[in-house]
Amino acid sequence: MYAFDIKRPRSVEEAVAALADGEAQALGGGQTLIPTLRQRLADPGTLVSLSGIAELKYVRMEGDVLRIGGGTTHAQVAREAAAHYPALASLAGRIGDPAVRNRGTIGGSLANNDPSACYPAGALGSNATVVTGAREIAADDFFQGLFETALDEGEIVTEVRFPVPEAARYEKFIQPASRFALVAVFVARFAGGVRVAVTGASESGVFRWAEAEAALAADFTPEVVRGLTVQAEGMIGDLHGSAEYRAHLVGVITRRAVEGALA
Ligand SMILES: Cc1cc2nc3c(=O)[nH]c(=O)nc-3n(C[C@H](O)[C@H](O)[C@H](O)COP(=O)(O)OP(=O)(O)OC[C@H]3O[C@@H](n4cnc5c(N)ncnc54)[C@H](O)[C@@H]3O)c2cc1C
Repeated sequence: MYAFDIKRPRSVEEAVAALADGEAQALGGGQTLIPTLRQRLADPGTLVSLSGIAELKYVRMEGDVLRIGGGTTHAQVAREAAAHYPALASLAGRIGDPAVRNRGTIGGSLANNDPSACYPAGALGSNATVVTGAREIAADDFFQGLFETALDEGEIVTEVRFPVPEAARYEKFIQPASRFALVAVFVARFAGGVRVAVTGASESGVFRWAEAEAALAADFTPEVVRGLTVQAEGMIGDLHGSAEYRAHLVGVITRRAVEGALA
């Protein structure tokens, strides 16, 4: 680990000011960033810890939108979103293990945009809005490729707004060693259509499966997915599974997600 200073702001305003220094980087739960620092893969100079900012930690319904503060841990979402948006609470409750869930945050997960992470699928599948100190970004515009997002340098995720669908399910086929998704699919049916977001599969990160969305909008049953295929080209191939295997899994897991949403 390289030496660094740490700042512990008590408000979003103080955090934004601390992050204005180009050398500084936000620290959420540290579940990704700390291992990165320990391997000397980053040298931020100053870490700005968000964990002491009470105004970033909440789960609350407003109308038919679930609002979650950017510093809310996965464990808090699993507990407090269950009554409002069970599919999202279930997603949060299956991230990593208890240690990861008690420290890791929704803002950190979305900002990191790991190609196998769970929240990017939940946000994209829900048509969520990512709110920062400066603006609101639709999930369709937020995820911009492998570990890339629309966030500017020093911009903090302060809130994520999830419209609650009529039916939804997150189906996750885990890579047992890491518990990340080998392939996972978030399916959500809204009055105006269906969204299908896939994580773990593509070299470009989370994506919407448009063909499945159109078929499911016409007929929300697992059977309509059976005839659809995803090209293996562009899928991740590694020691855990080939690109062809992951492409096949996208169809299987989407069918299971629809079954679950209907149950
Ligand atoms: C053993 C293990 C298993 C895991 N399994 C899973 C899994 O199954 N599914 C899954 O989705 N994830 C998994 N994770 C990752 C975990 O969810 C992390 O919590 C998440 O990736 C990062 O969140 P964090 O709050 O710890 O962010 P940090 O590690 O603190 O930061 C990550 C990045 O986000 C930035 N950042 C942090 N907070 C904010 C914010 N509010 N606004 C803007 N930028 C911010 C940081 O600057 C950094 O670049 C696993 C991690 C571990 C260690």
